[in-house]
Amino acid sequence: MKKVSDEQLKSWMEHVRIYANNGKVADYIPALMRQKPEINAAAYYDVDGSCVGAGQTEYRFTLQSVSKILALAVALMKHGEGAVFSRVGKEPTSDPFYSISKLELEKPSKPINPMINAGALAITNMMCGENSEEMVGEIIQLAKELTREDSIDYDEEVAKSEYESAFLNRSLAYFMKQNGVITGSVEELLDAYTKQCAITMNVQQLARIGAVFANDGKDMETNEQIIPEHYAQICKTFMVTCGMYNASGSFAIRVGIPAKSGVSGAILGVVKNQGGVAVFGPALDEKGNSVIGIKLLEIMAKHYKWSIF
Ligand code: GLN
Repeated sequence: MKKVSDEQLKSWMEHVRIYANNGKVADYIPALMRQKPEINAAAYYDVDGSCVGAGQTEYRFTLQSVSKILALAVALMKHGEGAVFSRVGKEPTSDPFYSISKLELEKPSKPINPMINAGALAITNMMCGENSEEMVGEIIQLAKELTREDSIDYDEEVAKSEYESAFLNRSLAYFMKQNGVITGSVEELLDAYTKQCAITMNVQQLARIGAVFANDGKDMETNEQIIPEHYAQICKTFMVTCGMYNASGSFAIRVGIPAKSGVSGAILGVVKNQGGVAVFGPALDEKGNSVIGIKLLEIMAKHYKWSIF
């Protein structure tokens, strides 16, 4: 098993940076539109506790859909598998992450999986709390434990910007409320969900989260079982089948590791028993995945023979 070398990671990053020209920064959330496409960063956190990085490793970005993994883990830990899967399905979809079509077609109306927006909203609806702050607080708490970084929080400006423009997510939530999939205040839910998506960290912190998943939910330094192994396994399975949206199949062929991306340009990857990898580059392809993120992971997966297949 070859260890990821700092020098090599830096030279690959130099090589893939140019691919940012092939993508576009997400523009449907006004605050994300202001992200600079040339920013890039990558980190690999080994389960032995060492970490290597390339690019702007201190730069903090919002997790966006990567947060769906954390919310799912919280829901599983707080409510158990039965409750979670009575709300959302387990199957991948070829529809884009924001699609509403299956909600109308499926009877009863239940989001097809927890990684599409409808499913993620249904999961965030399971967070305990009197208000959005307390609900997102549950997810932030897990993020703090996984990163061992007490300063983790959400970016108020990005959260507000998405909250004010989330018309599509609002319609998904109201549709689900009408059909009894979600309960309570839709506005409070939207507030919690947009704050969750705006949770901010750098690539080293995100890579550490990947390393804990790689280590079956157990912190490699403290040996604390932060996420029960079975729940960590469920999260990783969704990363394989649905983590890269409706490009998860081609990503599985091209890279072959559990991964979750977000429209900020973040990708979190898990290399079983070896480590966590995080890449950030805001230029996205047409499916909403970071162009340089996919390119770098492809190179690394080939070189280190990471594919699980
Ligand atoms: N906050 C974003 C949204 O709901 C997250 C989507 C994503 O990263 N794919 O639209």
